[in-house]
Amino acid sequence: MQQLKGVSISQGLAVGKIVVLTSAAAPEAQAGTPEEELARFQRAQQQAVRDLGALYEKARAELGEAEAEIFSVHQLMAEDEDFADLITAAIAGGAEASEAVRQAGEQCAAMFSSMDDAYMRERAADVQDVAARIRRILRGEAETTLTGPCLIAAEELTPSQTVQFPRAFVQGFLTARGAANSHTGILARTLGVPAVSQLPVDAQLQGRTAILNGDEGTLILDPDEDQLRAAEAGIRARQAQREALQQLAKLPSVTKDGHAIRLYANLAGTDDLPLLQQSGAEGVGLLRSEFLYLGRSSYPTEDELFASYRQLVQAMDGREIIIRTLDIGADKKADYFDLPPEDNPALGLRAIRLCLTRPALLQTQLCAILRASAFGNVGVMFPMVTGPAELAQLKAALRDAEDTLCARGERFGRYQTGVMIETPAAVFMSRELAREVDFFSIGTNDLIGYTMCADRGNDTISNLYQVYYPAVLRSLKNIIESGVKAGIMVGMCGEAAADPLLEPLLISWGLEEFSMSAPSILRARKTISQWTKAECDELAEKALACNTAAEVKALLESAAR
Ligand code: PEP
Ligand code: MG
Repeated sequence: MQQLKGVSISQGLAVGKIVVLTSAAAPEAQAGTPEEELARFQRAQQQAVRDLGALYEKARAELGEAEAEIFSVHQLMAEDEDFADLITAAIAGGAEASEAVRQAGEQCAAMFSSMDDAYMRERAADVQDVAARIRRILRGEAETTLTGPCLIAAEELTPSQTVQFPRAFVQGFLTARGAANSHTGILARTLGVPAVSQLPVDAQLQGRTAILNGDEGTLILDPDEDQLRAAEAGIRARQAQREALQQLAKLPSVTKDGHAIRLYANLAGTDDLPLLQQSGAEGVGLLRSEFLYLGRSSYPTEDELFASYRQLVQAMDGREIIIRTLDIGADKKADYFDLPPEDNPALGLRAIRLCLTRPALLQTQLCAILRASAFGNVGVMFPMVTGPAELAQLKAALRDAEDTLCARGERFGRYQTGVMIETPAAVFMSRELAREVDFFSIGTNDLIGYTMCADRGNDTISNLYQVYYPAVLRSLKNIIESGVKAGIMVGMCGEAAADPLLEPLLISWGLEEFSMSAPSILRARKTISQWTKAECDELAEKALACNTAAEVKALLESAAR
């Protein structure tokens, strides 16, 4: 038995076997003998064919035959004899396997590009993609294919890795790096599984049984019988607590004195739909649509996006669903976007900034969202807005999408338009922005970071990354006041919406919609039912009189129910 101490980024308890994901690139290999290199290539080729087969099955089950087709095309390319002959010839000429695959990929791509047929020309990108996949396997960077429930261990997890995990298999995360508001933390809370960061992660953890305790931030390796029994009793006790909360699933979200609010869920895609059942969610306050772009090698088409959105909208059965346009950039990256390298990506070309420079990318999304609006109650929301000029461009883009659909004779419904308030610039311009939209949704994950100049993913300055700083609290109050005065709906989809200490303050200031990971909703319903509006007001006044985050936090903890 060995106990390791880290930092909790998602609460909960789990027992399972560890699967270590290798994401760090191994140094470029020296060429072995041609026989050795050929054998390495053949093993990697077989692995790629198997992985593509699994991806085909997953896509077919989730998106349908037409959308899955691309993986079957890639599978055929990976097995193609002419492609393999080019690689074999390069290896025979002394090339290392990965270099031979790169050369063959380029030769095939050049051949496709020179063809007359447009369909065949487009295959150039596919063959490059297949070559890149085989090279990743050769360099030990392959996406590990999970085959059953496990604890996932990695140096650090990127959003594009996490999107590939079959949700049902994830029992917990243990990482060397990553703060509470990294996307690993957010995903763990969405799934209701524990996550602990700042643990020493290496290959020695592979396959070992462990107890991951997200409340205490610990990992017990090779636990003894007593520890396993205690952990299993803990897991049962939590299950019993969850079942007790289920009585609240169908009740309204009201304070002790009947003041109504709405509790919504944050989702990343159709994979999250099962989480909504029994969650008690009254709507979806944030669909992080960029997850539909991650974990793949080419842009989703309008029809693919529409198919996912329609499935989600129909599953909501008339309840509201707010679809956020692409928030790619910063930590959420996909190679095929070909984003320029940036010194400060969190302050760079991300979200609407990127979309406004690539009008076709924006139109594809807006047309798909508007088409889905014909099937239910849809809101479209723009991230990272800094002021009215950007908003005017985005609204013009919405009108263009409407015109396109009208010209094509396609249906769309009535929809709401909103912005995320997650930049300090938008806070200062919130009165002007409120006149132009139907709703605000406060993105505290970024707003705290940009207000405190503290990277949300950097755990060395996590003391500065706190919602309790007076500067952050005043921003929140200002945003809500601007929205309330303009008569629009104000919600919050940042993680702070699920902070039981903060909820009374948000109620006092007039927040109407709290959107959070699905497993937090019933707990929030219970917390809210324990406060009257007058008690919330009294606490909010005291909190605003504090000068430091420590004072605010101590005050809220002393009042917690
Ligand atoms: C936020 O910034 O609060 C938010 C909800 O968006 P994301 O975490 O995806 O940046
Ligand atoms: Mg954000």
